[in-house]
Amino acid sequence: MVKMKLTPAMQQYVQIKDEHPDCLVLFRMGDFYETFYEDAREASKILGITLTSRGKGETKAPLAGIPYHSLEQYLKKLITAGKKVAIVEQLEDPKKAKGLVKRGLVRIISPGTVIEDSILSKDSNNYLCSISFLDEGFGISFCDISTGEFLTTEANNQIKLFGEIEKINPSEILVPISQEDSEIVNLLKKKNYFVNSYDDRFFWEDKAKRTIKEFFNVDTIDGFALTSMMLQSSGALINYIQETQMGSTNIQKIQNYSVERYMILDSPTQRNLELIRNIRDNSTRGTLFEVINKTQTAMGTRMLKKWLLRPLTDVNEIIQRHNAIESLQQDLIIVEDLKDLLNKVSDIERLLGKISYKTANARDLLSLKNSLEVLPKIKKTIVKVQGVFFENIKRLDELKEIKELIDKAIKDDPPLTIREGNFIRKGYSKELDELRSLISDNKRWILDFEDKERERTGIKNLKIKFNKVFGYFIEVTKTNLGLVPDDYIRKQTQVNSERFITRELKEKESLVLSAQDKINNLEYELIMDIIEKVFRHNNELLYIAKNLSELDCILALSLAALENNYTKPEISDGNEIIIKQGRHPVVERIEHSFVSNDLFIGKESLVHIITGPNMAGKSTFLRQNALIVLLAQMGSFVPAQKAKIGIVDRIFSRVGAYDDLSMGQSTFMIEMIETSNILNNATSKSFVIMDEVGRGTSTYDGLALAWAIVEYLLSDIKAKTLFATHYHELNNLKKEDSLIKNFNVLVKEEGKEVIFLHKIVEGGTDKSYGVHVAKLAGLPNKVVDRAKHIMRNLTEQEQITNFVVKGYTDETSQNEEKENFLKERIRENNKKDSNKDSRLNKRSKEVQKSLFGF
Ligand code: ADP
Ligand code: MG
Repeated sequence: MVKMKLTPAMQQYVQIKDEHPDCLVLFRMGDFYETFYEDAREASKILGITLTSRGKGETKAPLAGIPYHSLEQYLKKLITAGKKVAIVEQLEDPKKAKGLVKRGLVRIISPGTVIEDSILSKDSNNYLCSISFLDEGFGISFCDISTGEFLTTEANNQIKLFGEIEKINPSEILVPISQEDSEIVNLLKKKNYFVNSYDDRFFWEDKAKRTIKEFFNVDTIDGFALTSMMLQSSGALINYIQETQMGSTNIQKIQNYSVERYMILDSPTQRNLELIRNIRDNSTRGTLFEVINKTQTAMGTRMLKKWLLRPLTDVNEIIQRHNAIESLQQDLIIVEDLKDLLNKVSDIERLLGKISYKTANARDLLSLKNSLEVLPKIKKTIVKVQGVFFENIKRLDELKEIKELIDKAIKDDPPLTIREGNFIRKGYSKELDELRSLISDNKRWILDFEDKERERTGIKNLKIKFNKVFGYFIEVTKTNLGLVPDDYIRKQTQVNSERFITRELKEKESLVLSAQDKINNLEYELIMDIIEKVFRHNNELLYIAKNLSELDCILALSLAALENNYTKPEISDGNEIIIKQGRHPVVERIEHSFVSNDLFIGKESLVHIITGPNMAGKSTFLRQNALIVLLAQMGSFVPAQKAKIGIVDRIFSRVGAYDDLSMGQSTFMIEMIETSNILNNATSKSFVIMDEVGRGTSTYDGLALAWAIVEYLLSDIKAKTLFATHYHELNNLKKEDSLIKNFNVLVKEEGKEVIFLHKIVEGGTDKSYGVHVAKLAGLPNKVVDRAKHIMRNLTEQEQITNFVVKGYTDETSQNEEKENFLKERIRENNKKDSNKDSRLNKRSKEVQKSLFGF
């Protein structure tokens, strides 16, 4: 940086900037936060503020400032622009400082460390995440600084890692600097995560252990039961939080969980099933979450998202949620009452965050009190509702003492700031009351003084006024100046008047002002003391918040079930899935005459091949079954007349030929990566849906390979699989005694028209309706006729493959890419598990030969 002589303030600046070169430094000077040099140029660009300069000649520095009271609004822009911001405050009152004002770094704000209400989304957690890289897998730790929630888990392979990261959806990810160029970190960046490289040292096990011990002030960290992977990611994360938050946080504990405790949903599955965001535009429209999110509180919304992304695998836990919904539904008045009551509950989690950061104001305390006041009413409402779930809530401590404390202390309608008093109730502090009456006595004296002086001087329009510069003064208009007595001291001349003071007036004024100063300080101290007292009940309050969030989720699921006519599923440890008259929870809301369909799988059959033309309803059927299983295991009722679900440990959903442009990979490669993922991770408890896998390839070999995988799933893994395809040739794969069953989607032909009945029936088909669909889509008749002609020819010659290759795709480039990729993949797989994959490969070739004859 610049070497010339700097002013003392600029030296302060340069020092801090040197320590945090990666941050944009906002440097508090009076009523402004200033930025200098490069930061100033950048800030002026991002924020659209004027770039000026400070100093002269050599020491001239580019400068751009923002008013201190608009900090949040500008912060938001900087953070959104992907900047890390360091806030430097004046640590003492400039008026009282001798010489240079003391300044210091108070916080570093990055996307993951935001606590400002106006920047955070209330419906989503804002997670800061850290990943440790070990030979045996990855540690994942993540924390929402605004609530204090801190969780950690581990993933033993890349697929689980990405599945978990997708669920967490962190706004910032810390990785060790040494991994900066690794494949995984590059992939994270490609997926648009904000990745922050952090010194490897903080991930080291010993260092991490020390960090955690010191942070929680404990002798041993055994209580957290962390594995090495979790320990390393947690230690680094805590270190970073301490560094950026300068110590204060609401983190009470590290909770660890096992990825296996929940149903595993890898990231393509989460996307394909459109749980939280849709595939089309990544928005929340048309998602499962949109259908079931009937929560009343922000805490509940965030909790329901977690429930949706982490379906349970424990029968009893699931049944408890189902029973809770069932109990609630028995009395619709209770449902309505709870809705109204929960509506009045504020975001207790975030309020507690503010309380721990000491940034809460009087209004926040009132919100907390008002929320606590709802609790006894909720308890009363559910007093007759049966079930374990409700027993917990009935037993919640109401924290009367906190409620009373806030009630006694805080005025109704307090101001936003806590620096200027006027929010503590009369009667709460004797000292405060005395100061206040001192002020009102003296103010009354001053009022009387006006009357007295008018009488004494005979100046009828004499006025006592107040402003911030002069304090109290006497104003006399020019025409009356002759009447001014000797003891008035002239202070200022205005156009039409003069301003005076008297010694007596100034004495009273100083009493008032110093009393006001004292009051401001005292009220600040009092509220800090209340905040401290509330904070002592942090754990109880968090427990209340958790229980109310869960109640909100149960209520939401009850409301969704009522609105959409869902039924209670039966859950077992068995292997069978029975869904009678199932519906797609999202499509049924758009499609007025939705056709329900059954699924019986797991006992007499394990693999269902579903054929049918495009637009028949195959994808809808596949997804609806996955969604029903998922809903059931998250604890919700389901869109079916009846459902019996044997617990599923993972759902895999694979859709062929969707373009993931952001990843820059060919669709075929993606399919193959995803299918090999299935292979390596499925168990007999898994539920697999494969939707037109192989469609993206130019010949049938991709399909054959995919099919070989399905067979592998059937014979070696025994996973329940639904396989949809518009290649009706696949029907031929069913062997007489196998667990494979053929299904097709009913289509009715009326004259030349095709009507989709959307009904899935057992049995294969031998007809492809692609040409009909093209006609429906409005293709010119000439093209449709020509296509019919080609098709007839092809069927006769049985040379479908050639047609596909030569007619419609760029053969060479795709095949080459594919071949290289496959070779690479096979080599890789051979290293891992030579037995499994070579067998598969052989089978794949056999299938291809039997199907297509080459
Ligand atoms: P496919 O995968 O066979 O090409 P889709 O599942 O994408 O077909 O369904 C095509 C359209 O048909 C859907 O967008 C939906 O509007 C409608 N559809 C699908 N299934 C049903 C059903 N069971 N009842 C009513 N309409 C349906
Ligand atoms: Mg489809």
